[in-house]
Amino acid sequence: MKKIAVFPGSFDPITVGHEAIVRRAISLFDHIIVAIGHNSVKKGFFSEQERKTMLSKVFENDKTVSVEIYEGLTVDFCKQKKSKYILRGLRTGVDFEYESPIGQINKVLYPEIETIYLLTLPEHSAISSSIVREILKYKGDVSKFVPKTIIKDIQLI
Ligand code: ADP
Repeated sequence: MKKIAVFPGSFDPITVGHEAIVRRAISLFDHIIVAIGHNSVKKGFFSEQERKTMLSKVFENDKTVSVEIYEGLTVDFCKQKKSKYILRGLRTGVDFEYESPIGQINKVLYPEIETIYLLTLPEHSAISSSIVREILKYKGDVSKFVPKTIIKDIQLI
């Protein structure tokens, strides 16, 4: 059976931290679905379609990575995609505290699921989408924090 992982998140926008997690996971799975969670209440800084376009561009040469937008529970999306793995990245203890209950509850909801956590690279531990959004808001330079392939697109939007 194919090992399919779902990497769920907001990716508003994708950062080099997200990109590195996906690239490091490529050799672990047959397929990775980067899954943008639809939030009907919170409107993103970038639209879901803009986020999907940017993610697709970053991974356009990676045949085993695809990008989708999903709605509802992550575990239901995993079942629908026949995925038994959720991929997440950990930066600090704060991420661990946040991720633990989610991972534990997902295991209750779908006992066959395993959440795989990759520790971020030291140089990415301070990088977050929210910091990138803040810099963009004031027209600062985000080129060190977002994948090279999308720097131009991100500054045009
Ligand atoms: P969410 O709103 O679900 O936290 P994010 O897009 O912020 O969505 O993050 C998606 C995943 O990527 C989470 O597991 C998060 O911890 C991880 N992540 C975010 N930034 C980094 C980074 N700089 N290094 C490694 N993992 C990261």
